[in-house]
Amino acid sequence: MTKGFLDYQSGAPVDPRVVEAMLPFLTEHHGNPAVLHSVGDTCQQAVDAARERVASFLSAEPSEIVFTSGATESNNLALKGTALRLRKKGSHIVSTEIEHRSVITPLKYLQREGFEVTFLPVDGEGFVDPAAVREAMRDDTILVSVQMANNEVGTIEPVGEIASLARERRVLFHTDAVAAEAWIPIDLKTLPFDLVTLSSNDIYGPKGVGALYIRKGVRVEPVMHGGGQENGLRSGTENVPGIVGFGRAVEIAEAEMDDDVSRVRPMRNRLIDGMLAMPDTTLNGPRERRLPGNANVRFAYIEGESLILSLDMEGIQAASGSACSAKTLEPSYVQLAMGVKHEEAHGSLQLSLGRWSTEEDVEMVLEALPPIVERLREMSAFKPGMEYDKEEFRKHGHED
Ligand code: PMP
Repeated sequence: MTKGFLDYQSGAPVDPRVVEAMLPFLTEHHGNPAVLHSVGDTCQQAVDAARERVASFLSAEPSEIVFTSGATESNNLALKGTALRLRKKGSHIVSTEIEHRSVITPLKYLQREGFEVTFLPVDGEGFVDPAAVREAMRDDTILVSVQMANNEVGTIEPVGEIASLARERRVLFHTDAVAAEAWIPIDLKTLPFDLVTLSSNDIYGPKGVGALYIRKGVRVEPVMHGGGQENGLRSGTENVPGIVGFGRAVEIAEAEMDDDVSRVRPMRNRLIDGMLAMPDTTLNGPRERRLPGNANVRFAYIEGESLILSLDMEGIQAASGSACSAKTLEPSYVQLAMGVKHEEAHGSLQLSLGRWSTEEDVEMVLEALPPIVERLREMSAFKPGMEYDKEEFRKHGHED
C-alpha cells in the first residue's frame, strides 16, 4: 500500500482479498441477476451471499438490506424515502449541524419541499446532546437522523441513547454509520436503529457501492424507479462485482476489526501527541470517544491548503478540514459548528489511518510537519500577535 498515505477517510485502498473475490465477476460471471438462465443465476447467488454477509455484519436479516450505489444514495433513500412515506403522519425531522453533506443536502431539499428540519448544534468536541434530541422531538416528528461518528473530527456520537429516545416517542431513527463501520461493531439486535447507511469503500471494499439497512416493518418510498430490483426499493441492474466485493469486505472486517483497532489506535495516539507537542496546535474533536483512525488538529496562523500541498511534496497525502473550490476556500462547517473560529478552522489538518498504516507513516509525518508549519507561519499574514483582520482575510481569497 502507498507509503505516506494518511487520507483513508477520503478514499481507502481496496483489500487485495476483496479484489480477488471481485475479479471473476468482472470477467466470466458477467450475467444479470434478474434473468432466468444459469449465467445470471450465478450472479444472483453471489448477490444473495453478499447480502447475507452484510446482514450478518449488522446482526440483521438479509431481507433488511438494500444495496445502493453508495452512502450518498443510501442517505437519500433513508431521508427522502421516509419523508415521502410518512408525509401524512408528520413533516418534522431532527438532525444535526455536523452531518455529512449527503445528509444535510437532502434535508435542505426536503425543507424546500415543505418539511421542517431542526439541525441541532453540537458542543466544542462535536458531541450531540441526547437531551437536546429529546427536546427537539414533537408530535409531528417522523425521523431523527444522527451520524454514528463524524468523518472529519472523529467524534463518536451517543447514538444508542438517542435512538432509544426516538423509539420511546415512536419516531424512526436513521444513522449514517459510514465513518464508524470499520471500527465499531454494530449489533442491531441490541441497538434500536431503524435505518443504517453503510458504504463499501470505508471498509476497504470498492467505491460506488453501499447499503441501506431498513428494519423489518419500516416502510420507505423508493427514490429510484425502474425495473423493481432490490425489492422495488432500488431499481437498476445490481453492481454485481461491487456487491461481491462489499460482501467480502464486511466478512474480513467482522473477523479483523479488533486487530485493526488495536494496531491503529496506538499509532494514531502517537501522531496526535506528536502534533500537539508543536506550539499553537489544538486537537479538533475529543480525545476519548474518538474513531481510532482519526487525527485532526489545527495549527494557528496557517492555512490547511498550503499544508496539504507542502506535505504532498514530501510524499504524504492528507486532508484539510476545508473543502477547496475554484475561487473560495471554505472553512469546515463541522468545525464552525463546534465553535472553532473561522480563521482557525482554516489551519486544520486531518490525518486518517487504516488497515495498512505503519509506524513509518507516522514517523514521516512527525518529521516533515514541524519545518513545514514553521515555514508557513513565517510566510503567514496571520502571524502570532496579529489580530484577525477581516479585510486582510478577504484579500487572501476567503469568504467571510
Ligand atoms: N457519509 C459519510 C460519513 C462519509 O464519510 C461519506 C464519504 N465517504 C459519505 C456519507 C458519502 O459516501 P459516498 O461519496 O461514497 O456516497
